[in-house]
Amino acid sequence: MKCNRFFAAFLCSLLLATAFASAEVKVTVAHNDAEHSTADFKFKDVPAPAKVSAATAAKFRVVDGEKDDAGGDLDVLHDGKLPTEADLPAANFFFNQGTEGGRLCIDLGVPTDVKQINTYSWHTDTRAPQVYTLYGAEGNAPKFNSSPSKDVDPTTCGWKLIAKVDTRPKTGDAGGQYGVSISDTTGLVGKFRYLLLAATPTETDDAFGNTFFSEISVVSSGDAAEMLTAPKPAADQPGVKQLSIENGKYTVTVDTTETPDLTDWANNQLDPVVIDWYPKLVAMLPSDGYSAPTHFSITFRADKPGEKGWVANTGGTRINCSHAFYIKQLKGEAIGSIIHEMVHVVQQYGAFRANRPRRTNTPGWLTEGIPDYIRWYKFEPKAGGADISKRGYDKARYDGMYRISANFLNYVVGKYDKDLIREVNAALRDGTYTDDLFPKLTGKSLDELNTEWKADLARKLGIAPAN
Ligand SMILES: [Zn+2]
Repeated sequence: MKCNRFFAAFLCSLLLATAFASAEVKVTVAHNDAEHSTADFKFKDVPAPAKVSAATAAKFRVVDGEKDDAGGDLDVLHDGKLPTEADLPAANFFFNQGTEGGRLCIDLGVPTDVKQINTYSWHTDTRAPQVYTLYGAEGNAPKFNSSPSKDVDPTTCGWKLIAKVDTRPKTGDAGGQYGVSISDTTGLVGKFRYLLLAATPTETDDAFGNTFFSEISVVSSGDAAEMLTAPKPAADQPGVKQLSIENGKYTVTVDTTETPDLTDWANNQLDPVVIDWYPKLVAMLPSDGYSAPTHFSITFRADKPGEKGWVANTGGTRINCSHAFYIKQLKGEAIGSIIHEMVHVVQQYGAFRANRPRRTNTPGWLTEGIPDYIRWYKFEPKAGGADISKRGYDKARYDGMYRISANFLNYVVGKYDKDLIREVNAALRDGTYTDDLFPKLTGKSLDELNTEWKADLARKLGIAPAN
């Protein structure tokens, strides 16, 4: 009897211990001191920043405190791009120096099974370590407050405390790189739509204690099956849709929350083209060792007062589109211009080149000429959008950017090398492109090709050739 009771008590405590361990959040901290910090952010026990993660398409916003204007925008935290050296304010986000830090909300768009939250920072001195508390929420608690200011305890308004992080070394230099990985012994930290990072300064002896945050990755369980069964967007965001391409191999978030008058058009006209064309663009622009992003987002933005004349832009894997432009172009340029931006998502010249020590410059006429070539000659060849008129002829030069460069590339592809775009793209992405690639592929220099192309244009226009 005695023995049994003892055994039962033992078993019980074992079970308790197991139950406790099964939901234990782990905070792993890695530090590369100033001397051993390199641009690839490699750590011993913490994964390097993910180029693409659930944070890539998330919406980041400051809910308390203010951004330091010397630093980068919130975008730098989830663009997959890392600072290339230790003290690069514009490549980091930090709260106003001299203030008590602040709070960031990361909205993943839909409740997501989060496996890891990884945060990275880099500075030469006291702005390197990270001190923050992390909370998570699904966002469906009755009193949920998605923007709790610093005088509000988030656990009183629908948030769950995930972890407290403090990477300040007890001894030695604070400078260098820090990688923090928050995970759980069960493999899953939790299901969250929102994460709240409440940061405090690393020191208040002087005004320079707010951390230089370089990147935040949110690793989700995002395998194909998971993506396909991703829960529908919350009801308060009827404009957010997740598209799945090739059984979840690629996913795309299309967000018209700010522009409800574009939602029907996006659903009916845009989405099918995105699903059809993204894999085609990926196949057109391959290169060794490269895989194109498996997730990107297209967000239509309500234009702010005074914001005029912009069409769309792409940062990392996020495409932003101007409401004012798209609402007028639904039957005109709307879809073609998004094809152009999707090519930028596939190009990723900056991100992939970042780790190449001896990279060449990327000429802007190719960065923009290739998307316009694909758009005007592959996607909508009948539109004639890159045709050059008699009026435009004199000024036309191969490096005239966008449509003009697209017209030039189309000429060279047609006459010399059908694989030219693929080869040029691969060199640009690898950081090995120089203008010598054209003679290598065609036997002619860019200037010679320019002369030939202009002669051909002149013949088609029925005018005298000029350079
Ligand atoms: Zn562009």
